[in-house]
Amino acid sequence: MKLDTRAIRYLTAEDWRVLTAVEMGSKNHEVVPTPLISQISGLRGASGVNRSISNLAKVGLIAKVKNAKYDGYRLTYGGLDYLALNAFIKRKSIYSIGNQVGVGKESDIYVVADESGKQIILKIHRLGRISFRTVKANRDYLRNRNSASWMYMSRLAAMKEFAFMKILKDNGFPVPTPIDQARHCVLMELIDSYPLRQVTSIADPPKLYADLMALILRFASQGLIHGDFNEFNILVNEETQQPVVIDFPQMVSIDHPNAKEYFDRDVQCIKTFFERKFKFVSDDEGPTWDEVKRTGKLDIEVEASGFSKKQAKELDKYLQQITQLDEREGDEASGDVSTDEVDEDNEDEPDQGSDAEEAEDKPYSNLSKDNHDEMKNEAD
Ligand code: ADP
Ligand code: MG
Repeated sequence: MKLDTRAIRYLTAEDWRVLTAVEMGSKNHEVVPTPLISQISGLRGASGVNRSISNLAKVGLIAKVKNAKYDGYRLTYGGLDYLALNAFIKRKSIYSIGNQVGVGKESDIYVVADESGKQIILKIHRLGRISFRTVKANRDYLRNRNSASWMYMSRLAAMKEFAFMKILKDNGFPVPTPIDQARHCVLMELIDSYPLRQVTSIADPPKLYADLMALILRFASQGLIHGDFNEFNILVNEETQQPVVIDFPQMVSIDHPNAKEYFDRDVQCIKTFFERKFKFVSDDEGPTWDEVKRTGKLDIEVEASGFSKKQAKELDKYLQQITQLDEREGDEASGDVSTDEVDEDNEDEPDQGSDAEEAEDKPYSNLSKDNHDEMKNEAD
């Protein structure tokens, strides 16, 4: 979905309060009843609240849910985008928003600028987007999947990415400098390089290959496996030929039960790419899992960053489900559901019908009280 920021400067203070109220109400209501929005917003007078509700709905930041038992609204991805951007703007982390530079599998990437005009990268996590079509084709998987949980999982992905980027940067790894994080968004340094996949001239493929394999081993010696170490997530500077690694939501500890498999897969991705693109096959078979010697424990230290072990598990479980669903979809090749861009309308679908009915007692099922408190703090 596109990020349309045209309305951001026109929202009134009341509109922002109401938008925040819808977000907070979402923690235990799939569809937030209008009186509750009014109550949480703390605004006096129904007319002001109603005016804001209609403003927000008009620009698509909240959406009316029609077939619920009661009149209510839910936050859209656009609404969540606005809340995150507003947090960045208030903290003076960003000043203006520029062009979209990438559509990842599970993110949208924009170039934005801070007050000094310096360009930085905004990564908006959109977890589950790729699986909306799958979810529709596999309704039995839908039970605990509502838009609120997608939003929550996207937020976990952003928190995780920020925490890992920070600890990696602090320990001298070639990664972008993390700048800020709010809700499902991360701000980071713009790297003036292209993904390896797009780089046309690599002066010395064996050297780059050796650097990348050494990097995989270096991650592992610090207790970490990237988990998606491929030509899309390695940016290479055309002049210096230096690699910078991005994209961290799936990083795992070398103590993870499937660690060896992830490690081997990262190694294999590089091997396959170099063979295909440069016809380069190394004489060295490795690196192998047996060569991994732990000398540090960033995998443990990162837990102190505010991204807890429990959150890590929640996200891990969700990412695994998504992967399985996508693989399953690949097998079935049913072709009866659109694989094109998924817009807000499609996102709406899982919210309706039985899910809405269940909403009262199984609200926002992935949100624990801790999460709510965090969310509340963020909203303040
Ligand atoms: P996804 O998780 O969706 O794959 P990525 O973090 O890999 O998202 O980013 C997608 C694309 O956006 C990258 O392949 C790259 O082209 C671009 N990109 C992401 N982060 C940066 C950055 N810090 N500097 C420059 N380009 C970036
Ligand atoms: Mg990527």
